[in-house]
Amino acid sequence: LVSRHHKSEDTIINIKQAVIGGSSHMLIAGPCSIESRDQLLTVASALKKAGLTVLRGGAFKPRTSPYDFQGLGEEGLKIMKDVADEIGMVTVSEIMSPAQIDTAARYIDIFQIGARNMHNFDLLKAVGQTQKPILLKRGLSATLKEFMLAAEYILHQGNNRVMLIERGIRTFEQATRNTLDISAVPILKQETHLPVLVDVSHSTGRKDILLPCAKAVLAAGADGIMVEVHPNPPAALSDAKQQVNIDEFYAFWKGLCDSGLYH
Ligand code: PEP
Ligand code: MN
Repeated sequence: LVSRHHKSEDTIINIKQAVIGGSSHMLIAGPCSIESRDQLLTVASALKKAGLTVLRGGAFKPRTSPYDFQGLGEEGLKIMKDVADEIGMVTVSEIMSPAQIDTAARYIDIFQIGARNMHNFDLLKAVGQTQKPILLKRGLSATLKEFMLAAEYILHQGNNRVMLIERGIRTFEQATRNTLDISAVPILKQETHLPVLVDVSHSTGRKDILLPCAKAVLAAGADGIMVEVHPNPPAALSDAKQQVNIDEFYAFWKGLCDSGLYH
């Protein structure tokens, strides 16, 4: 069902005023974690000024250590809905289990399935039975075949509004948090009809190379980019190192606009 042989034309996903796939690029941004109303509103207002339509932010956080901040849960999603309604944005947030679906559906527009849950087949089946668009992340060590089959699980249940997002894979390289697999972009575009995005924050873990990586994936045919933005990254409760502040976000966004690759 995900294959180009099954459907040759690109899938375009409309979510309120946001369009993902097709001729225009989508830039999704927002903090790693929703931390407070103030924090999210500050970021969202800055993004809105740059014309962005989709706000990201985690409330259920899949942290490596159980001692790290686990997210605000439903309270975070309430903040997200409140902020998004106030300024008029579309929202995406991660859910980690089928049990979170009904709650999350009340607050957010797009369900994100995180890298760690790409192989959670019960979750894939469960979100496949919802009407929400799904942003599916590539697993930490997933092959492209496995990634496409994870998407297939969702479509197989009847939900064809799926977006694929490359977020870096595990390799021996230490210079970046993960290795951005640029070749994933043209391969996924060739083999599937689904929109293909790239999370430049999690794939590199480095804010100093976000712009060249974003340009590279747009040149390779990506339909969009995801980037983490926080009002005060050193104080962030998760992914403090890789999040850009608002000025850095504007510089990144301007760099993309000036590149001629982003439209
Ligand atoms: C995230 O986007 O917040 C996240 C946890 O990313 P990933 O699942 O790609 O690690
Ligand atoms: Mn993060």
